[in-house]
Amino acid sequence: MKRVSLSLGANVGDAAETLRNVVSELFVEEKIFDIQVSAMYETLPVGGVEQPNFYNIAITAMSELEPLELLDYVQEIEARYGRERTTHWGPRTLDIDIVDIDGMTLTTSRLTLPHPEATKRAFVLIPLLEIAPKMNIAGRSLKEWLSDIESSGVTKLEDEM
Ligand code: ATP
Ligand code: CA
Ligand code: CA
Repeated sequence: MKRVSLSLGANVGDAAETLRNVVSELFVEEKIFDIQVSAMYETLPVGGVEQPNFYNIAITAMSELEPLELLDYVQEIEARYGRERTTHWGPRTLDIDIVDIDGMTLTTSRLTLPHPEATKRAFVLIPLLEIAPKMNIAGRSLKEWLSDIESSGVTKLEDEM
């Protein structure tokens, strides 16, 4: 069993509803277990593409899946929600990134662990900190990574989720 952490984002259609539906499916499908879900956050887009605000959540869970099997699983869920890869860092109905699997480092053509951008993104770190306050990425706590970056664009939505 490995502890996995995921970052989910959406900004097309009813993005909050998409994330709630995905979470329900994760619980029903039982491919990952002991699931913890953060609050929902509304976040300003980064990367310079003009687009609607994002909704983001973080999830931690236990899993017996191999890393590439987990990637297959999350990509299958993205596909269910009609994910089309158009603009890099552009709008998407659903994006699921694997932030970390048990602190493993991996560099393959399909999967890099930990996710190379996670430590630079407040919209990943802030939701994850809520449910995994003791987690480290590359030897530093989430709080330490957060202290290096701008996090003003990330707002917790108290009533969603
Ligand atoms: P970013 O990775 O900067 O957040 P993105 O999420 O928009 O960008 P995608 O188009 O969703 O990028 O993914 C491109 C590819 O990244 C995927 O097809 C997948 O094979 C690969 N990838 C590598 N490492 C990871 C990871 N840790 N989690 C999810 N996908 C990954
Ligand atoms: Ca992403
Ligand atoms: Ca992705």
